[in-house]
Amino acid sequence: MSSAHAGADEYSAQVFISGGFESPASDWLPVFDKAAGSAFARYGNASAAQVDRAVTAAKQAQPAWADTDANTRCDVLRAFAAELERRHDELISLIIRETGGTAEKAQEELGQSINQLLNSATQLTENAGSILPPYRRGKMSLSRAVPLGVIGLIVPWNYPMSLAMRALAPGLAYGNAVVLKPAELTPIAGGQVLAEAARAAGVPDGVFAVLPGDGPGTGSALYQHPELDLIHFTGSLEVGAAITDFAARTGKSAATELGGDNAFVVLDDADIEQAASCAVWTSLWFQGQTCISAGRHLVHRSAAEAFTEAVVERVRKLRVGDPLRDSVDLGPVISAGQLQRFHKGLVEPSIAAGARVAVGGTYDGLFYQPTVLTDVTPEMPIFREETFGPVMPITVVDSEAEALELVNRHRTLMNSVFTGDPLRGLAFAEKVASNEVHVNDGYARHGGEGQLAAFTRRQWIGVQTTAVSYPTWAQGK
Ligand code: NAD
Repeated sequence: MSSAHAGADEYSAQVFISGGFESPASDWLPVFDKAAGSAFARYGNASAAQVDRAVTAAKQAQPAWADTDANTRCDVLRAFAAELERRHDELISLIIRETGGTAEKAQEELGQSINQLLNSATQLTENAGSILPPYRRGKMSLSRAVPLGVIGLIVPWNYPMSLAMRALAPGLAYGNAVVLKPAELTPIAGGQVLAEAARAAGVPDGVFAVLPGDGPGTGSALYQHPELDLIHFTGSLEVGAAITDFAARTGKSAATELGGDNAFVVLDDADIEQAASCAVWTSLWFQGQTCISAGRHLVHRSAAEAFTEAVVERVRKLRVGDPLRDSVDLGPVISAGQLQRFHKGLVEPSIAAGARVAVGGTYDGLFYQPTVLTDVTPEMPIFREETFGPVMPITVVDSEAEALELVNRHRTLMNSVFTGDPLRGLAFAEKVASNEVHVNDGYARHGGEGQLAAFTRRQWIGVQTTAVSYPTWAQGK
């Protein structure tokens, strides 16, 4: 393994500034194999001085990077992807151990990361500007995309590599420098590996930096750095709101991707078997720890009994355990803190308020049995808050209108609706407030055409090709 170190630590998440690795300012801290419960790697907290050096180096290196021709940047991004591909098997094991996800989840994450690099490499060679209509005779007006400058990137632990890559790849492609702070629970796949691969691929010194560390220390020093041109944050609503507030007060730009309390709707004419399979998949994939996990199931009364039975039957068969060493469907949840947040904070008070456990509800260490709760009402905490754990609350509704009102009652990112009539589903989806809605499915993708706008700004250049007759007072007459 390329980042092997002496001692028990197989990996070391170091501070990566100006193309070189250095120790963090703090003592080393453990990174746990989430299923085995043992430390397999280490990281430390980058100091405010290290944050400052990384951003300053990025600021200096960015103009020359932006000035390279598109083919050069395209080649570097492809080499970055090839480097991840070369380490494929090692990285799959690493992602499994560091996030506690299954091999399928790790494949998805690594695959998305590689594709993101390749897609960005292609996109950067595509048209990035336009010629505007002349507003005056002889005037040629160009609108072109130019890099933002230095992007500060803060990422959570659930998809540490691909959520970093979602901004890193297009950010670099369009000529920006990126300073990344991975989550403290996942600093290897989310940071160290990316630094190593970027260096091997020829990303110039300073253009990419990695600062492992905690949120309140390293993270806040990064987002408050005055030289950032964009703060790109993925994580909780609470931290995202603090970053947006800071950006508003200081005139900075912030892009935030936050959480949601997503809903899964089953209408009276739905195919119950299909709906149950999709519900189990979209609620329990990676132990329910994705921003698009379905956290509430709104089921029409006439379908409720059959849907609940079909879901419980599937959930009973799921195997929970160590995804690296055993054949399992669900791994551990990420940390004891997260487990207690949803179990003590949401599940137990909801049971006390009348919710019934149809299956699950117990745990051993970080291994939480996938859980189905019935008789859930909209007042219960499990309904009102993002769960971010392997829990499927089921709420019975009496009409499509009631389901729609409940979907839109909370902030959501992605919702699903199941119905035997796709046009009925389309009509329902049109009234849902989220940016993503799926009829008879649950799905998500990143990237696409929005990236140019997200990671560049527009510059208008006007070229006057003929003499202009300015007012006489301006001509000094
Ligand atoms: P979190 O907000 O606690 O942490 C996310 C990142 O922010 C971490 O790197 C953390 O160290 C850092 N951070 C924490 N406090 C900070 C501070 N005061 N200043 C600066 N940085 C700070 O979130 P989490 O628990 O790691 O992730 C779960 C949340 O992320 C859920 O709400 C989930 O829905 C959301 N999420 C959203 C998306 C999306 O694309 N919209 C994707 C994944 C996760």
